[in-house]
Amino acid sequence: MDYDVIIIGGGVGGLTLALSLSSRGVRTLVVEKDPKGGHVYKGELLQPKSMMILDKLDVLDPLLPNSYQLDTIHTYEVELRPGDRPETLCHSRLDYSMLPVKYNYARMAPHEKIRELLTARAEEFSAFHLWKPAVFEKMETKDGVQKAFIKKGKEVYEITARVIIGAEGRLSKVRKTMDVSLHSMQYNHHFLTVTFPRPPELKEATIFASRNHFVGLFPLPEGQVRSVYMIEPGRYKAMRKEGLEPVFKAYRDFMPEMEGYVDEIKKWKEIQLMIPIRHNTSRYVTDSSAILGDAAHSVHPMAGEGMNMAIQDADILGELLVWMHEHNRWGKEYLSWFEYVRKPRSEFVSGLSHQSALVYSFSSRPWQKIRMRALRYLESHPRLHFKHLLNISGLGMWKMNMMDWPRHMGFPPGESRRYVLQEEEMRKRFFTEKDDYPWKSE
Ligand SMILES: Cc1cc2nc3c(=O)[nH]c(=O)nc-3n(C[C@H](O)[C@H](O)[C@H](O)COP(=O)(O)OP(=O)(O)OC[C@H]3O[C@@H](n4cnc5c(N)ncnc54)[C@H](O)[C@@H]3O)c2cc1C
Repeated sequence: MDYDVIIIGGGVGGLTLALSLSSRGVRTLVVEKDPKGGHVYKGELLQPKSMMILDKLDVLDPLLPNSYQLDTIHTYEVELRPGDRPETLCHSRLDYSMLPVKYNYARMAPHEKIRELLTARAEEFSAFHLWKPAVFEKMETKDGVQKAFIKKGKEVYEITARVIIGAEGRLSKVRKTMDVSLHSMQYNHHFLTVTFPRPPELKEATIFASRNHFVGLFPLPEGQVRSVYMIEPGRYKAMRKEGLEPVFKAYRDFMPEMEGYVDEIKKWKEIQLMIPIRHNTSRYVTDSSAILGDAAHSVHPMAGEGMNMAIQDADILGELLVWMHEHNRWGKEYLSWFEYVRKPRSEFVSGLSHQSALVYSFSSRPWQKIRMRALRYLESHPRLHFKHLLNISGLGMWKMNMMDWPRHMGFPPGESRRYVLQEEEMRKRFFTEKDDYPWKSE
């Protein structure tokens, strides 16, 4: 056997898994087709659970000086008044400090920096091997042995392994070979995303929404800000013809301080069109193969969860594969634990991302009023606030129940004052770290 595990795709998911495995002696080969990376925007918002995982892998400390801490995400519903400051109709805050853990904040980090640090740390272990650039072409299973065909330079190599993992993103070839079915959906909006210099007034993550527009501003280190601007499908082509001024104006309408900063975008080439797609697959595991990250599930970007789900998948799969390696128990019956643990969680987060997308998918005045009311009560009702934080942080899972819908609308009146969060009780009931490794209790 050439390797214990072959991972196709050296994105954040594949590299997190490779580091988790190689640091514990599992011989791992990562195959990455892109020699450079970095030319497309990808996820940069790290949620608390991802930070916990990166810390466990000794990558968090070097990441701290290269990232920007977000304690609170502010959402403003506004009435736009072009040429003047917008009128604030509602201001709500999502406050990470309510989480009773060490990692009670989010962080923005350049995507390529995260990949670079994961690679550098993995290269410290002799069990880690990286082929880059090299392209996965196909795989076969013969007599219980997994064989991957990898093209490196002009040669195609046949490499054997106990397990092959597809971590190659949305268009995963491993997934196609595994013959799992894919359910995908698109939305009635697209996004423009771009990074540019940040005005000093912008210190915290800020979302501005008007009746029919949406802008998200997420501070990055080194005085930069990553932005997303929602547009109607088809508008991109027309906007490009109009030059950059409509983009500058869109940002200035929400935040006049953007003048002189957003204008630093020099070419349309710097702006990326992002078409939100949400997909779920029927299986994550077949025989001796598994898929993780975007290969297994892709979520609407509104929730800022895609990269975090890839890291969290890799953590669980890493723990399982190390256990299989230590106990010399290879086979589908063990690998299936990954799907058992992660699929319900991923589908739940995918559902949340869908709900967040719907909240901003309709532009009527009554819908905006409902949205403002729901946001206000989400902030002021400690139980709702905590539930939401727990779910997006990745630290636990606490589903909405029938009573939460009226709570979002403020019924029964005064109820929020009755709920005082009791840290220990909440930790016991809803933090799910221990449940993540059911195979260990076998
Ligand atoms: C514009 C944008 C903004 C986003 N914002 C956020 C955010 O704020 N927060 C967040 O959490 N998520 C965000 N996401 C989503 C996030 O980037 C992805 O969910 C995450 O990158 C998935 O990681 P992955 O490792 O599964 O796949 P990828 O990052 O897609 O990595 C897959 C790797 O596999 C390689 N590969 C593909 N095919 C082959 C092959 N045949 N052989 C060898 N290598 C191959 C690719 O080159 C790539 O490096 C965003 C995505 C986009 C596009």
